[in-house]
Amino acid sequence: MILINGKETATQLKKEIAKQVEDRIAAGKRQPHLVAILVGNNGASMTYVANKEKACAQVGFKSSVLTYEATISEDELIQEIQKLNQDPTVDGFIVQLPLPKHINEQRVIESIDPRKDVDGFHSVNVGNMTLGLPCFVSATPHGIMELLEAYQIDTKGKHCVILGRSNIVGRPMANLLSQKTYPGNCTVTVCHSLTPNIKEITLMADIIIAAIGVPEFLKADMVREGAVVIDVGITRIPADNEKGYRIVGDVAFDEVAPKCSYITPVPGGVGPMTIISLMKNTLRAAELNDTK
Ligand code: NAP
Repeated sequence: MILINGKETATQLKKEIAKQVEDRIAAGKRQPHLVAILVGNNGASMTYVANKEKACAQVGFKSSVLTYEATISEDELIQEIQKLNQDPTVDGFIVQLPLPKHINEQRVIESIDPRKDVDGFHSVNVGNMTLGLPCFVSATPHGIMELLEAYQIDTKGKHCVILGRSNIVGRPMANLLSQKTYPGNCTVTVCHSLTPNIKEITLMADIIIAAIGVPEFLKADMVREGAVVIDVGITRIPADNEKGYRIVGDVAFDEVAPKCSYITPVPGGVGPMTIISLMKNTLRAAELNDTK
């Protein structure tokens, strides 16, 4: 069994991005600039944005955070986004989700200029991704593709079973892995909460991508010998430690790992790659901005 070390891969990729930023600056170009919009004071969102700022500093990007009260109206937020769309010094920006309930998230996402939508959530980017055209691919699926590539995992003709059909993980993953590319060329099955007999399906899988948010859902008797298992799940469960919680994935790691050819741990697997993908998208957005 080979443990897929997302942390190590992310550290390596971060160095490569930092080098590309250095080269940009040496060539007289600007530092890439990523802006994060944070609405309200959701603790998890504040942590995610702080981590993104930290990663920007590590690779040499400029980063800014625009914070707004949870009471901001949808129209006011969209006006702020339009300012960023027009600001030539901003290469890419993200709106940290979730937004307060009175704001329609999709309408907000659709107001972002797709060329600055480094989260890859705009329908233009999602549409281009499904057609295999140049686009910003959303961070988690992009990070998983990078991990498969970094470990040279054979995907051609393999049966990939994806647990979960969300717009941010399961569905784009299914699309990417079914494309005529590497990683890709898989036969893909997508399971969700209404799929009966999931175990029968996962037992036929060469590759399983678990993204449902149900702690330790995937057990050893659901996995065949030699499978590749990618665990996307992140759930905090109470624990008797300093933090008062620990992070658990969708895979019962201890019992599943011995059967696998490759497996990602949680934490330290897919998670660290997500932020790298955002950095890569921002660098690409800066390159596109150079040519405007
Ligand atoms: P989501 O939007 O809640 O979607 C969950 C999906 O799982 C849905 O399609 C749901 O089916 C399906 N599902 C739920 N319970 C199921 C069950 N018992 N059996 C089969 N399918 C089931 O979640 P998400 O945003 O995709 O996130 C999934 C997990 O990944 C979460 O733990 C999240 O924290 C984690 N995550 C991690 C990263 C990272 O960077 N590592 C990034 C994003 C998300 P229905 O469609 O039928 O409801």
